[in-house]
Amino acid sequence: MHALLVEDDDRMAHALGTALAQRGHSVRRVGRALDALRHVHEAEFVLLDLGLPDLDGLELLRRLRTVCDAPLIVVTARCEERDIVQGLRAGADDYVVKPFRMAELMARVDSVRRRSAARPGSAGPTGAVSGAVGDRIVRSGDVEVDLARRTVTVAGGEIRLTRREFDVLAFLAERPDEVHAREEILDRIWGDAFLGVSRSLDVHVAGIRAKTGRSRLVRTVRGFGYQLGAPPVGSGPPPDPALPDVRGPDGGTR
Ligand code: CA
Repeated sequence: MHALLVEDDDRMAHALGTALAQRGHSVRRVGRALDALRHVHEAEFVLLDLGLPDLDGLELLRRLRTVCDAPLIVVTARCEERDIVQGLRAGADDYVVKPFRMAELMARVDSVRRRSAARPGSAGPTGAVSGAVGDRIVRSGDVEVDLARRTVTVAGGEIRLTRREFDVLAFLAERPDEVHAREEILDRIWGDAFLGVSRSLDVHVAGIRAKTGRSRLVRTVRGFGYQLGAPPVGSGPPPDPALPDVRGPDGGTR
């Protein structure tokens, strides 16, 4: 596949480019945000460094997402949880902090590519919420999760989750009586239990709770995983309106 490697550091770019080429990918490496925007249309997946000389990487990520839906992994030295949350919210499919092990990064590349191929609307099973679930609607308190239409309503009003937030919620909703291990969820939704070390799952659960305004919709089983919770009707405040990022032009699909 054709990779766009956005990295201004020559040594890092060389190491990444070599590893990608060894796995049969063709690579275009650019060191500036402007060139990334120029070439992103040809990319089948993107590796993006956030520390670039001409534009903040998060801003570049947002701009790339307006023109490109290819799988994208942020590869950066920024390791604060806030940075990771912002990166995932801005549309990154995964987030890898430098220094990293090349084998792990390559496994994540494979993983996001597999998931991308299995996205709803494309061919193939979606993994988390396949057609096998039929047209079930799962209710929990005043929250309704429509597994077939991929919609969520809270007290009758539709909430927009990102694609992956919905996948996590739907996975829990499919078997509401069961507690699901973190590794199981990561493996099913992210295609990769590797991510057990990352914060991706927690970030997405936090997003589900905030956007539905139902903090008990997803129950944390400490040290193990998550289960669909049962918030009493009207238990929480209304969904948080201070999350405009999810209502952006592509917010509902990422
Ligand atoms: Ca850099």
